[in-house]
Order: sequence, then structure tokens, then C-alpha cells
Amino acid sequence: MVREQYFEVKQAVVHACEESGRKGDACTLIAVSKTKPVEMLKEVYDAGCRDFGENKVQELLDKYDKIPSDVRWHMIGHLQTNKVKYIVDKVSLIHSVDSVKLAHEISRQAVKKNVVVPILLEVNIAEEASKYGFKVHEIMESVAEIASLPGILVKGLMAIAPFVENSEENRIYFQQMRQLSVDILRKNIDNVSMDILSMGMTGDYLVAVSEGATHVRVGSGIFGNRIYK
Ligand SMILES: *Cc1c(COP(=O)(O)O)cnc(C)c1O
Repeated sequence: MVREQYFEVKQAVVHACEESGRKGDACTLIAVSKTKPVEMLKEVYDAGCRDFGENKVQELLDKYDKIPSDVRWHMIGHLQTNKVKYIVDKVSLIHSVDSVKLAHEISRQAVKKNVVVPILLEVNIAEEASKYGFKVHEIMESVAEIASLPGILVKGLMAIAPFVENSEENRIYFQQMRQLSVDILRKNIDNVSMDILSMGMTGDYLVAVSEGATHVRVGSGIFGNRIYK
């Protein structure tokens, strides 16, 4: 069942890419496996998925050794500075860099472990009180400082759009994200590329892809609803 759902979402992403004039593989589907057991991840792995997203450090570490090592792990949840050291050499991309302080700690740990960590800056694009992330003006003020840190590469932006009934309501935010990435790129800052736009979840990933998402993060649409104990 999970396998079929994965294929369905995967196909929808390819189709939406093509519809928007991009190549079918222009957008990476990240299977967000938080709260889900390793057996389910293996099913999706066997179906061809190599990108998994987790939002908690401990859960990522628990699953890390149980899944083949050719998987790319994406840290997508709010990251506490004291936990950076556990994952800095294990993740392919940290999507959720939401403060200058966190960027400094990632840099410090990356240098210590002699790795270079690709990161995204999380944008609180709808300025919701409940969400982490930089406001648009803050990101403009901080991006150069973050990019100057050793051991990290600023690869793009990430956003969690508001929860809405009609995904079309989020189109404006995805457009704003796209525009923001263009504006940042224009500043021509060393160590800043804006190749990645991580946006779109189960409820709105098709709209996100049509507005230029390069990575979508889909959880319940693949694995079913989450049950929190
Ligand atoms: C849980 C989560 C997702 C996936 O959410 P779904 O609505 O289940 O697709 C995507 N991004 C982040 C940051 C998440 O925490």
C-alpha cells in the first residue's frame, strides 16, 4: 500500500514538473518518514526512494543504521544547537536552519568533523507565530554572515506554507519564495547558490511544484496519517 502511494505521488510530481515546463526529474520527492516504523521506510526504499526526511534528531539516528547507506537523510525539523553534533556528518541536507546562532553551531561542528554541510534557510513566509524561520527582511540581513561561515554551503530556501483547505491559497507564498531566492541570488554572495527550493507537503505539493519547487516533502500522502502518542 505504501509502495503504491509512493509511486502515485512520485508520478504526480514528475507530471507536475513536465506541466510546468521542466524535466520530469527536476523535483526530488522526499519521503517524510517521521513517526513511521523502519519496515515502512524499507518498503519505500525498495520502490526506489533514496530521500528520507525526519524532524527529530533521535529518530533520525535510530533509523540511520537500519536503512541502506545510499539513502540521503534530510533534517527538516527545528534543530536545537546542542543536537547538531549528532547529525552533522550524517545528513545530506539540513532544511531547517532558522537562526544565525544555529548556522554558527552547524559550522563549528562541521569544521570539527571535517565535513561540508549543505543547508537551506527556513523562511517563515506567511509570518505565522506558530512557525520557525527567518522573516524575509531578516534573511536579507543574515544571509551574507551565514554564507561566510566555514563548513557550510547555503544551497537555497525552505518553507512550510500555512495549513489550508484549498492548496491554491498557498500559491502566493510559493511565488514569494521563488522571488526571494531570485533576489538573494542577485546579491552574488560567495558560497550562496539558490539551487534548492524546498516547499510543498502532502496538501499542497502540486501547487509548489508548479511554482518551481525542487524538493517536496511528503509524509502522510505516502505513509498515511501519523498517530502521535
Ligand atoms: C511533517 C512534515 C512534512 C510532511 O507533512 P505531510 O503533510 O504529512 O506531507 C513536511 N515538512 C516538514 C517540515 C514536516 O515537519
